[in-house]
Amino acid sequence: MESAQKQLWHELTAMFGEEHVRFDEEEIELHSYDVWPAAAKWKMQGKRPYQPDVVVRPLSTEQVSKLLVWATRNHVPVTPWGMGSSVTGAPLPMKGGITLDLSLMKRVLALDPDNLVVQVQAGKPGLELELELNERGFTLNHSPQSLDRSTVGGWVSTRATGQFSSRWGGIEELALALTAVLPSGEVIRTPLAPRAAVGPDLRHLFMGAEGTMGVVTEVVMKIFPLPEKRIFETLKFPSVDAGLKAMRRMMQAGLRPFLVRFYDVDEARHVMRDPSFPRPVMLLGFEGLAAVAEAEYAAGLNICAQEDGTAIGPDAALAWMERRFDFSTVENLLALPGGYAETIEVAHFWDGIAETYQALKTALAPLAAEVLGHFSHVYEQGTSLYIILLGQAENDAEAEARIMHIWDVAMRISLEKGAVISHHHGVGIARLPYYRDQLGSSMAALERIKAAVDPAGVMNPGKLGL
Ligand SMILES: Cc1cc2nc3c(=O)[nH]c(=O)nc-3n(C[C@H](O)[C@H](O)[C@H](O)COP(=O)(O)OP(=O)(O)OC[C@H]3O[C@@H](n4cnc5c(N)ncnc54)[C@H](O)[C@@H]3O)c2cc1C
Repeated sequence: MESAQKQLWHELTAMFGEEHVRFDEEEIELHSYDVWPAAAKWKMQGKRPYQPDVVVRPLSTEQVSKLLVWATRNHVPVTPWGMGSSVTGAPLPMKGGITLDLSLMKRVLALDPDNLVVQVQAGKPGLELELELNERGFTLNHSPQSLDRSTVGGWVSTRATGQFSSRWGGIEELALALTAVLPSGEVIRTPLAPRAAVGPDLRHLFMGAEGTMGVVTEVVMKIFPLPEKRIFETLKFPSVDAGLKAMRRMMQAGLRPFLVRFYDVDEARHVMRDPSFPRPVMLLGFEGLAAVAEAEYAAGLNICAQEDGTAIGPDAALAWMERRFDFSTVENLLALPGGYAETIEVAHFWDGIAETYQALKTALAPLAAEVLGHFSHVYEQGTSLYIILLGQAENDAEAEARIMHIWDVAMRISLEKGAVISHHHGVGIARLPYYRDQLGSSMAALERIKAAVDPAGVMNPGKLGL
């Protein structure tokens, strides 16, 4: 058996060359932990529940195709890896096999400044692409907090959203077309058009699929001119309900702040850097042509004033913009023995979000020293809710157990309240036990699609319950 496996790995090395096929401990360890806090605690305990046997770094769509043909023929699992910034365990290989690391596929293939699109290989790191575009006067308008540690293909595969999504939409609006390789090795390119009505949109087979349907190898992203003007404001509100109402009214009136983040009083203290700050706080930003940004700003502030929001100046919003990729509060706590932290995002309609928020805050309060809440991706129909938990346990084993308990409580309450269990972080391993309940009658159809696309079951096996 062992020698049969050795023979397989020998074949891989012969196909892709030694420097692209790695078995060394450093590479295996690197691909055994993502940024899920549970993974941080496993690492600190010397545990490694999920690890690849080998890491392969292809250079092109053709090489990915060759690899998938080989893996399907030999029934070897393949788990794609962008930059491993998942916070749910999504890129951890539950059945071992190959981790397909896209870090060498990072070329910009074409930039079309007239039609405002850029075509890139899927392993392109987000910040690298954004900075290259900025130099030419453009932006992606996709800015996840992990911009500096995630890839374009990872965004598509997790159905990511950025911090400016209330104005510009999630990745499903921003990624116009894909090239993907199916487990059979077939390469498919979805139609490239401003919009198309030519049957089902196959982009969505891969969006949020977490690597279970194939490998995304190239993406055509929309790009935008850099804005002429940005205006910022910070407002305090008397209550969470008042701020939620102001957000709902702004969105339903057709205003599109690119920045709208509303923090409960517990998180407002962190955002304002003032431990005694007494009120929930909203950060607002409008952008575009100066005349449009100014008009939207005035209209937005008017709505907020009607809900008792008081403007306190732009400083806190500007300071947040400066540190918007900073994750150190969570990372520093996780690095302490017994320290634990978790971030859980869900979403609901306007008529369900306040009750979901209250229920989660109440149920999670005994499980952490601090339970913070904010609302930051806003729609006409509803909003996301983001809960951050910070705590300290006796040791890392207890911290790990606490993280799992937190997930269980949060997911059960979200399902009970009719919220969707993830707004943008995806399912991974963290939400796996609750995924069937979430999908309900859709699960059987998803299973049949998976069986048709990946009959050998090689793509990220176990994920999405498949
Ligand atoms: C500090 C921090 C902040 C974050 N902020 C946000 C945020 O604001 N918004 C947000 O949406 N998320 C956020 N995340 C979560 C994470 O960054 C996103 O899920 C991101 O899209 C993952 O990208 P990645 O390239 O690192 O993918 P990975 O973590 O490597 O992989 C994620 C999943 O996608 C699959 N995958 C990756 N690349 C491909 C591919 N080319 N083809 C097929 N499958 C693939 C993997 O198998 C895995 O299942 C944050 C994470 C951190 C650590």
